Amino acid sequence: MKTLRDVLHDADSRHVAVGHFNISEFAALNAAFAAARSLDLPLLIGVSEGERAFIGVRTAAAIIKSMREEYDYPIFLNADHTHSLEKAVEAAKAGFDEIIFDNSSLPLEENIKNTKEAVAAIRAIDPHIVIEGEIGYIGMNSEVMDAAPTGIALSTPEDAVRFCTETGVDVLAPAVGNMHGLLKTMVAGTAHKEIDIARIGAIKEAIVAQTGTAWMTLHGGSGTEDKLFTEAARAGMTIIHVSSELRLAWRRGVEQGLKDKPDEIAPYKILPPAVEGIQKIVTDRLRLFNGLQ
Ligand SMILES: [Zn+2]
Repeated sequence: MKTLRDVLHDADSRHVAVGHFNISEFAALNAAFAAARSLDLPLLIGVSEGERAFIGVRTAAAIIKSMREEYDYPIFLNADHTHSLEKAVEAAKAGFDEIIFDNSSLPLEENIKNTKEAVAAIRAIDPHIVIEGEIGYIGMNSEVMDAAPTGIALSTPEDAVRFCTETGVDVLAPAVGNMHGLLKTMVAGTAHKEIDIARIGAIKEAIVAQTGTAWMTLHGGSGTEDKLFTEAARAGMTIIHVSSELRLAWRRGVEQGLKDKPDEIAPYKILPPAVEGIQKIVTDRLRLFNGLQ
């Protein structure tokens, strides 16, 4: 059975990206899993602090482990945007495959100090867990917004090298024009996120040369122009996150399901439009991340 490290190593060597999709209930989980299986591609499921509080931290870990074993399939679980040492330790003890320790809203100095501490604590619990850290700032909410969050800060190769060297993380999440959440103009299709592909390449080259760290994550993928996903993977992104688009598809699907069946009360008969909507997005995104036609 492949580990998450095997999967990331393989993706990195082929210049493609592993898809990471956030869930907070079964409709989205089933949709993402069906999409990945239809393409025979590995799947990384993410749960933020809020999402895992809703599902249950240990429950989430048990569900993904159970699916991995039952289907003999490379599906893994990430503790997305973990802001405290306490929550990182909780996820490590629960058996998560990856933990993102995110103190990127703090000055670089403090971010490095706290991330280093988290890396030591997680490794002491289970050295196999993949640990990701973040630099720069890309906003914090996976929501539909009127305007971009203030304080967006792009990452430099110098900061990336320093962060990776001093913290010892396995995966770096830099800010390269990506942003959490969606703007209303993006939902309407009149605007897209501008990913700085050259910056991805420069950061990747610098960290690989200086630290041997090879893996990078593109957060906030929702609302990105299709071709930029493929280019971002080719330039060095190993994992790409999509969340807000799935939340939007979930909501629209639930509304459609309720409208289609106004007297129905069985959730699994109401939810299929949500599952179909999410499955379509995950399938489309996975194709782009892997350069498939
Ligand atoms: Zn993120």
